[in-house]
Amino acid sequence: MNCIFCKIVSGEIPAKLVKSGDDYVAFRDLSPQAPTHILVIPKQHHSSLADVRDPSLLGSLFFAAGEIARDEGLDKGYRLVVNSGPDGGQTVFHLHIHLLGGRSMDWPPG
Ligand code: 5GP
Ligand code: ZN
Repeated sequence: MNCIFCKIVSGEIPAKLVKSGDDYVAFRDLSPQAPTHILVIPKQHHSSLADVRDPSLLGSLFFAAGEIARDEGLDKGYRLVVNSGPDGGQTVFHLHIHLLGGRSMDWPPG
C-alpha cells in the first residue's frame, strides 16, 4: 500500500519520533502549525476514523496524546484535532490525531 504514514511506521520514511507504544507511533509534523505539532497514529492502517471498528484503539491513541501533552509541558492547554474525510480537511488517509500546543488557539477553526 502506498501510504506515507505506513512507511513512517515501518521506518521506510524518516520522521522525528516522539513516542511509541504497542499500537501507536507519535512523531513531529513535517509542516508544524504550532510550536508543538505532533501526530499520533495507529501502527495498523485505518484510512480514517470511519474505518475503525475497535473502540479500544481510539482509547489508546487519545490516552497517548494526553501523555505526550504532559511530557511536552503543555500545561496551559493544547488542541487535539482529527480531520476526517475531504470536508474535514483530511489530506493523509491514515488515521491520525494532531496534537497542537505552545500557542493559544482560535475558535471556530477554518
Ligand atoms: P491532515 O491534513 O490529513 O489532517 O494532516 C496530515 C498532516 O501530515 C499534515 O499536517 C502534514 O503536514 C503531515 N505530513 C504529511 N506528510 C508528512 C510526512 O511525510 N512526514 C511528517 N512528519 N508529516 C507529514
Ligand atoms: Zn497507512
